Amino acid sequence: MIVLEYVLILGSVIVVSCFILISFAMNSSPSTAEVQAPDKGHSPSRRNRRGRKLRQTPPSSSTPQQRQSANVRHRRTRLADNDDTVEMHIDDPPLPEENMDIDDDDVDCECGVQNTMSNKTRIKEGRENKRRKENESLLVTKKDSSPARLKDFSHPIYKEMSLRNGSVNRMTKIDLQNTLQELGLNRLGSADVLKRRLKHHYSKESLKVAGLSTDVPIRFDYLCVIDVEATCLEINPVDYVHEIIEFPIVLLNTKTLQIEDTFDAFCKPVVNPQLSKFCSQLTNISQKMVDKADTFPVVLEKAERWMKQKGLGSKHSFAIATDCSLDMDLYLKLQCLVSEITYPQYAKEWVNISKVFANLYKTKRLPLRAMLDSIGLAFIGQPHRGIDDARNIARIALQLIEDGAEMKYNEKLTPT
Ligand code: AMP
Ligand code: MG
Ligand code: MG
Repeated sequence: MIVLEYVLILGSVIVVSCFILISFAMNSSPSTAEVQAPDKGHSPSRRNRRGRKLRQTPPSSSTPQQRQSANVRHRRTRLADNDDTVEMHIDDPPLPEENMDIDDDDVDCECGVQNTMSNKTRIKEGRENKRRKENESLLVTKKDSSPARLKDFSHPIYKEMSLRNGSVNRMTKIDLQNTLQELGLNRLGSADVLKRRLKHHYSKESLKVAGLSTDVPIRFDYLCVIDVEATCLEINPVDYVHEIIEFPIVLLNTKTLQIEDTFDAFCKPVVNPQLSKFCSQLTNISQKMVDKADTFPVVLEKAERWMKQKGLGSKHSFAIATDCSLDMDLYLKLQCLVSEITYPQYAKEWVNISKVFANLYKTKRLPLRAMLDSIGLAFIGQPHRGIDDARNIARIALQLIEDGAEMKYNEKLTPT
């Protein structure tokens, strides 16, 4: 009996010990999730755009999708961030990719109209553009590692700027607003916009003190901001012929940052002379307004005379600016075909403000209202009236220039 009790006690002790040992072993071995967690610091994706290893690891997430999006988020933050672990990363001198346009296929304007004329061609062109951009990117990268470029950033001021940008990145929105206010700068806009503004200000000041150039090259004396309105239906058939019914130009002086003048004219459509109710309601342009207007070729001639009087293309350089590729690449292109006139040379390339915006403030491509919202402005006037849209786009362009954006061609006409 005593022996039996002894055996039972011994058995229980062994079972309990095994249980403790097994649970200890399970806790110390890596879980499945950890085994599948992304490579920390070794895979190419854990490097930033300049090829430097990223030190921190993304927070672990449960599902592969969550892990992937956490990685992307994390990587984005680290790319934009600038902490002391990165040898040098300045905000102002653009990275090769920052010099490149945001992909055209990302988003188009908010107008809900697709350039349905040649979807296949567009897809093909999109692919070709992507390939071209990749090649250009390689070229730019090569150019960037040239001795001249390296010498530019070897000045100790850039290290200082890098560290300062890092501290700006860590500031809260309220800190940013207060600092901007103390510096007498505009405190309106989203946190990303405010960060960019403050970094731009500090960089300018630092470069000035170091006796280095602070100027963002201004390529054009003027921007002619255009936002056309066109005939439309609520749902446009693939072969619908859009005709321009309003052609406005807002003349923006890129040096004085003033809107100097505006041109605005309605145009009489000929293929579909009757405006749809939807179109009139959308644009606030009535049948009467277009009935008594000139046809497009006459309006274009008037606009060009006005531009000539301003010395555009002679005394002053200028570029067309829009918030969307369709203004030139669909509406003007199609209108020139319908009117049987030559597409104007000066409009074959233009500045797409929404691309400049996305590149400067590191946002996705945003429609007009959202861009205004991000910089703390409200839409003034009547949305979808060409002249009002153009004025609001010009207000955005002004803020972009003030915040250090370089205005350069970033879109061109796609071949028909
Ligand atoms: P927007 O500059 O955004 O006013 O748009 C330019 C033109 O695109 C308008 O004049 C219309 O012809 C067309 N458009 C804009 N929004 C829509 C919409 N929601 N549905 C159909 N067509 C539109
Ligand atoms: Mg528009
Ligand atoms: Mg418009």
